[in-house]
Order: sequence, then structure tokens, then C-alpha cells
Amino acid sequence: MNTHLQGSGMTSQRTRERMVTRLEGQGIKNKKVLAVMAKTPRHIFVDEALQSRAYEDTALPIGFNQTISQPYIVARMTELLLEAGPLKRVLEIGTGCGYQTAILAQLVEHVFTVERILPLHDKAKTILRELKIDNISFRHQDGGWGWELKAPFDGILVAAAPTELPAMLLEQMALGAVMVIPIGKYGSQELQRVTRTEDGYDVEELEMVNFVPFLSGKE
Ligand code: SAH
Repeated sequence: MNTHLQGSGMTSQRTRERMVTRLEGQGIKNKKVLAVMAKTPRHIFVDEALQSRAYEDTALPIGFNQTISQPYIVARMTELLLEAGPLKRVLEIGTGCGYQTAILAQLVEHVFTVERILPLHDKAKTILRELKIDNISFRHQDGGWGWELKAPFDGILVAAAPTELPAMLLEQMALGAVMVIPIGKYGSQELQRVTRTEDGYDVEELEMVNFVPFLSGKE
């Protein structure tokens, strides 16, 4: 890996390892998730001025009023998604800077990621190409529609919070598929895991979280 990707000082491998130790302390148990987060540079997904803070357990601005999700949330959502077993086709709504996409893509067969803000979609594509992660399909669209042509999915991860479960996403889940999604208004959102069963959908209500709102339309 070149030095820009590898990082140094506050963006070095040692800093990434400290982040992973902290994630374990916060209760993340999936070793595969931890290993992928230890080797994936997170600093290259944020502006240069913020790179020294990329491994702190915090969300950081990525422009357009959006944020890169904090490492704990990325790890937790990925772990929750993978609990059901290995996944082939995963739909991600809210590519943002592409960091969560990079983590997911190293743990499942293929990621289909949708972002409604064009410059974020473009930038994420460029960075993921630079990282040579190629099992990702990108789409600039309102993710509320899902990605019908590529459905059904075994897993769906939603990185922005709608106030209720989006009907089109529920429809695009395969039998046995799981969706991890924050639900609720800003300031009081709950992470949910939805599993599609023979008779409908099972909903588990998990921890309280803070996400940007799930918006309709594209820009
Ligand atoms: N995992 C991303 C999260 C970014 S924040 C990261 O760590 O960078 C959430 C993202 O969801 C934003 O980029 C926002 O533009 C996008 N988003 C919000 N509503 C959306 C929708 N309906 N369809 C697609 N993307 C959406």
C-alpha cells in the first residue's frame, strides 16, 4: 500500500489498532469485522484537515451537512448484519464517504450502494477504486426506492434515519434476509434489525443512535 493509504503518525497502523482495541472494549465481538477495520485506512475518507481525528470514536463532517458514521456504529451495524451468516448480496443506503461500504465489501460477496448526493457518490467511487475494492456497484438515486433491478438482497444496511420502515426496502428483502436500520426523528432514534420470515417481518429493537435524516429525492 502506498504511504498516503497506509498513513503515519495519527493515521498509522498503530492508531488503527488502538481504535480496534477500543471497539472491543465497547462490546464488538466479531473478529472478522475487527480485522477488516484494523486494516482499512479511515483517514483517506475525510478531508485532510480532519485526518488526524479519523480514528477517534466520533462522527466527522464530510460536507453537504452529512457525516461519516463513528467507528463504533460502523462496527456494530456490520456485526448485526453478519450475525445471520455469510451474505452474498447486500444493499447499502447512504454511501456517504464510502467508509462503511469499504468495510462491508470486504466481508460480503457484493455491495450495492445508493447515495442521493451526487458529489458524495462520485468521491466515494474514486476512493474505493483507489483502494482497489471492486465488488461494489454504485448508484446515484433516492435510496427509498431500493434497487429493484438487483433485488432481492440478503442484507440491507441503512445509514440514515427514516421515521418508519421504507416499504420498498422491505419488499426487496429475500426470505431470511436482515435489514439494520435506524428509525425515528433526530435526537431519538432506535437501531432496529428486521428479519424477513415466512409470515412477515420480525423486528428487534436495539440501542438508541444518532443518524442524519433519510431524505427523499436526489441532488
Ligand atoms: N456510512 C456513511 C454514512 C453517511 S451519512 C459514512 O460513514 O460516510 C448518511 C448518508 O445517507 C448521507 O450521505 C446522505 O446523503 C445519505 N442519504 C440520506 N437519505 C438518503 C436516501 N433516501 N437515499 C440515499 N442516500 C441517502
